Amino acid sequence: MQSFLFGQEQLCSHEEEKSASSSKELARLFEKAKECHNCTLAASRQNVVFGEGNPFANVAVIGEAPGAEEDASGRPFTGKSGQLLDKMLKAAGFCRQELYICNILKCRPPGNRNPLKEEIRSCIPLLLEQLQIVRPKVILILGKVAANTIFENRLSLGAMRGKVTPWRGFDCCVTFHPAALLRNPHLKKEWLDDLQLMTDYYGTVGRKKNARENEN
Ligand code: SF4
Repeated sequence: MQSFLFGQEQLCSHEEEKSASSSKELARLFEKAKECHNCTLAASRQNVVFGEGNPFANVAVIGEAPGAEEDASGRPFTGKSGQLLDKMLKAAGFCRQELYICNILKCRPPGNRNPLKEEIRSCIPLLLEQLQIVRPKVILILGKVAANTIFENRLSLGAMRGKVTPWRGFDCCVTFHPAALLRNPHLKKEWLDDLQLMTDYYGTVGRKKNARENEN
């Protein structure tokens, strides 16, 4: 498959400054998250799974919540799903280090159940703050639960894929959660199609928006 990498170009000194400042802001927010007891998940967590990656990423990848392996390691998308995500990102021309990866909830719901409304309400301000710091050009949302949570709808995954949806000033694309690809490997082609749509969009609209922002 043709590579369609659109990672960080060579950073100019102004961008290096912005990247350093984003790292600092994210570190401050992480410290705040580690102390968070705003919902009941704080009582059962081993680790706050804050998020990681490029603090100045063009693409942010968002899942719903940490699972058991993430709770144990403190890192998002580890274990089998994470390994497959890395592989699929590579097939699409990305490496994990150039992206910013996190979840909507920072603490693991017991038994990997879906996030509850009050947990989402408590945790979404943290996600928004993270995104305001990183300021990605595109957000890739992984899975129906994460997309329903972010868009506050009950649409099927099929109804949310294949387009760019605005949310709180960000442009978002939706695709399958890597766990779904583990269960159904035939979905890999559709996953790559979704990433192609995202990069095509960024290659036209996103880069123009970026250029306009840099002019201002
Ligand atoms: S899930 Fe979010 S709101 Fe709840 S305790 Fe963890 S960091 Fe705080």
